[in-house]
Amino acid sequence: MSPLPPTYKAASIPAVNEDFKIVELPMRNPLPDEVLIKVYASGICHTDHAMQNGALCWSFPRVPGHEVVGRVAAVGSNIRQSDPRAKIGALVGVGFIGGYCGFYCDSCREGVLAGCASAGITGGTYDGGHAEYMIAPFSAVLSIPEDALKTHTYAELAPLMCAGATMYEALRATRWDPGEILVIQGIGGLGHLGIQYGNKLGLKVVAVSSGASKEQFAKDLGAHIYIDASATDAVDAIRELGGARLIITTAPKAQAMVSLIPALKKAGTLVQVGADFSPEGNEMRVPNVYIVTNRLSLIGWTCGSSKDTENCMRFSAMTGIKPIVETFSLDQFCEAYDKVMHGNPRLRCVVTFD
Ligand SMILES: [Zn+2]
Ligand SMILES: [Zn+2]
Repeated sequence: MSPLPPTYKAASIPAVNEDFKIVELPMRNPLPDEVLIKVYASGICHTDHAMQNGALCWSFPRVPGHEVVGRVAAVGSNIRQSDPRAKIGALVGVGFIGGYCGFYCDSCREGVLAGCASAGITGGTYDGGHAEYMIAPFSAVLSIPEDALKTHTYAELAPLMCAGATMYEALRATRWDPGEILVIQGIGGLGHLGIQYGNKLGLKVVAVSSGASKEQFAKDLGAHIYIDASATDAVDAIRELGGARLIITTAPKAQAMVSLIPALKKAGTLVQVGADFSPEGNEMRVPNVYIVTNRLSLIGWTCGSSKDTENCMRFSAMTGIKPIVETFSLDQFCEAYDKVMHGNPRLRCVVTFD
């Protein structure tokens, strides 16, 4: 790898609610437990907005970006040289969960690294991947098999760090049997990956969205059945199929999530991965008696630890699951960000670097 430059470019938020600016930052060496990564691709996630508006970020200026793919450029002195993530040039990634303590908090001691009480947020509590270089705690860094580049570009790997890992983990965290019905509500950035994971994991995938035009798209991704909720009562249609064992709601509309609860069969689970940040969406009214008498579970889920995401990468590389991406240079960052916030949400926008 070429010698490190004295400075590097980044897309930075100067202060809360201010617009992104392309800035030049000084290079520094990683601390003993850190890794310096040369970034090859960094996905723009809707959650980046929660950094800009201060909901998940409390100190500025800040460089967001938690869907990072790159290669190791330097490692801290505490890191075991034998670890594959410590080799200069190794293909690595960093997702939303910005590391874990591993030893001290109850969650880590119980083996739930993603719930670490002192976990950082990549691009929220420290600078993330919308930059030519980033420094991450070693515990946040995951290994990506080189073989993944036979089926994916760097840009196609990046959104798997957050959107992909969230959907994969939601499926891995719930109980179901192959052949049972999985409903994916919404075919956007999360949903179009959820359909692919559900199909490859052996579930019968029912995609629910609005409009007849999305049917072919959903089926091309691996949906077995498409329900146009603008023309059909989705709950009735799912019940006619026998009811869903699992429903994953991705559209950030709280009431749309709740409306599908009666489509669950006994002991079914509804997983929310879409978050409705609007004041009216923050509280949901649920059919209490139906939940109790049918022993339903209603859970929320986010992406997991670096090891969980590593498992997602391995499965995605093996099965060829990939997001639909549009790529941008760092200088085009503001255009790309605007597209994520206001444009076609089916696409994942990714910043790529030479
Ligand atoms: Zn994200
Ligand atoms: Zn911990």
